[in-house]
Amino acid sequence: VIALADRVLQIPPSPTLAVNAKAKALKAAGADILNFSVGEPDFDTPAHVCEAGKKAIDEGHTRYTAVPGIPELREAICHRFREDHGWDYTIDEIQVSCGGKHGLYNIFQAVLNPGDEVLVPAPYWVSYPPMVQLAGGVPVTVDLDEKADFDLNPDVVAAKATDRTRAIFLNSPSNPTGSVFSRKALEAVGKMALERGWLIVSDDIYETMTYMDEPLPHILDVLPELKEQTIILNGVSKSFAMTGWRIGYSAGPAHVIKAMNKIQSQSTSNPCAPAQYAALAALTGPQDFPRTMTEAFLPRRDFFVSDLESIPGVSCVNPKGAFYVFPNFSAYYGKSFKGKKIEDSVAMADYFLDEAQVASVPGAAFGADAFVRFSFATSMEVIKEGMERIKKALAALA
Ligand code: PLP
Repeated sequence: VIALADRVLQIPPSPTLAVNAKAKALKAAGADILNFSVGEPDFDTPAHVCEAGKKAIDEGHTRYTAVPGIPELREAICHRFREDHGWDYTIDEIQVSCGGKHGLYNIFQAVLNPGDEVLVPAPYWVSYPPMVQLAGGVPVTVDLDEKADFDLNPDVVAAKATDRTRAIFLNSPSNPTGSVFSRKALEAVGKMALERGWLIVSDDIYETMTYMDEPLPHILDVLPELKEQTIILNGVSKSFAMTGWRIGYSAGPAHVIKAMNKIQSQSTSNPCAPAQYAALAALTGPQDFPRTMTEAFLPRRDFFVSDLESIPGVSCVNPKGAFYVFPNFSAYYGKSFKGKKIEDSVAMADYFLDEAQVASVPGAAFGADAFVRFSFATSMEVIKEGMERIKKALAALA
């Protein structure tokens, strides 16, 4: 038997992708599964973006490209940053990668040394801790409070910081909570980062998908002087419904991007060439697509949240962005179905899948065991039917 590396033994496979695979397999076997586990919009990639991808193939853009991505796409990314935020980046400060996830992976491979600590606000996106670990770093969770709408808490950040802290993740709107970090909290944590020289990794993958009247607070808009120690991570996967095209991008100080390019040059070379041209069309064409999606998501969110909140013992923070609800079911932990006790979020999500044919993701995967995540990037019909099944399943617990 071939022995495996310690590095791979210390991390789990992505639980969200695993639940999705299980739900799809059950569905293929004929089960009437309602799938709330997936982290992708239920919209198709816009037609003009698909056309650009096809045209790129026809025009022979089928070879290796520059490692950090074609210059036109990096220019377009700089343009978007200027238009959307007033930020000035040049193309040597941009890397295009094989999805946002790959960008994050490159960042930590490029900056962490063994034992470096990275602050991870929890609930966190599933892949943050494993990515830090794969780079030899140590993820340190910073618990966020449901009662404070999962806002970043500067006191908890300060309490978890040590002299080994190198970086902090920010993800606002957040997957899995949909929460948005307040200006006030960003300012306090940003000042801490300035004083102590932390790298800020701002994962903005959901920034175009918000349900607020006011603009989304951003760390670099609050404290522009942090630019030299911030890496922005973004991509087209969510905002242009392009999860399968695998294009993400990072922006940061040129020497860090150069180091990330070195990693990329020795691992994946460049992101898929035709997909880069499709992303170029997405970023240079009409920018109303994310708004169209969020307008469709809004009534679904409203229904989902209020129906969850109507269940005795269940609480659910109203998400300000992204497309997930993250209800707290812990009042039901300790109850049983047919003599089998439900003790945690994994057992709860299994129970929903087995008894209600509802696929969700246990909160434990996000470092928050009281909760279960459901995506509302699915039809209202499915959400209504899913809620009926969830309510019935919870009522059957004794
Ligand atoms: N960051 C967050 C918070 C996400 O939820 C996701 C996708 O689920 C990503 C990054 C990565 O997106 P992708 O690699 O599909 O571009």
